[in-house]
Amino acid sequence: MKMSHRFAGSATALVFVITLGHVAADEYLNGIEWKEPAIVTPGENGGPPSDAVVLFDGKDLSEWDGAENWKIEDGAMIAGKGNIKTKQAFGDCQLHIEWSAPVPATGSGQGRGNSGVFLMDTYELQVLDSYENSTYFDGQAGAIYKQTPPQVNAMRPPGEWNVYDIIWTAPRFNEDGSLKSPAYITALHNGVLIQNHFELKGDTPFDRPPKYSRHADRLPIRLQDHGNPTRFRNIWIREIGADEGKQVRDPFLRDGKGNEKPIE
Ligand code: MG
Repeated sequence: MKMSHRFAGSATALVFVITLGHVAADEYLNGIEWKEPAIVTPGENGGPPSDAVVLFDGKDLSEWDGAENWKIEDGAMIAGKGNIKTKQAFGDCQLHIEWSAPVPATGSGQGRGNSGVFLMDTYELQVLDSYENSTYFDGQAGAIYKQTPPQVNAMRPPGEWNVYDIIWTAPRFNEDGSLKSPAYITALHNGVLIQNHFELKGDTPFDRPPKYSRHADRLPIRLQDHGNPTRFRNIWIREIGADEGKQVRDPFLRDGKGNEKPIE
């Protein structure tokens, strides 16, 4: 009983303080009418949230074109002959993909566990066995190939699972084909930031400088065959929409009695 009396007393004092504070200060309101954020049930252990498109759940390759020579083993897909692409096309997106470098580790440099995640079929986030395997920095795991290295090397040993979580902003093009705004990527490797809103200079070829060429607003995700049996699992993607709000009036202030006034 004593405890609850004391609690009730302090709670009353707290409400009094909050009320005083509220009366004293004007509240700022931005005048924007927002669309209510959708409810999404998060996934368990890196699994897909309720609004994700599942691209590979360990069972079949039905979401992919060109996968005739890739196989599934123990819930993972194993890179085989030929690149594979999603049947669906994506623009701005959040992509989750898990991958594991081949065991035993064979080859060196770019020849060890090489694959790649190509956003929009064009822009490569490198997949490579970069565990105790040196190569050029802007070609190691987590690099935007030939443009920038990852900020750190967060690689797990071959055979263990790596996770990429990628936030992708698609480039925009003008009607005349010129670049309106570049692509941006933010990426985490095993939960560690490796790309922080990096502005891409264009595509990511081996043999010439990067450049932008006008393309569709949405294109498939491509996984690279570089001759190494890299494994993939748990691949899902969410499309990213714009924040939807309508400026219905100018921003204003409101005092504790509900009186409104403009911002000077
Ligand atoms: Mg590659």
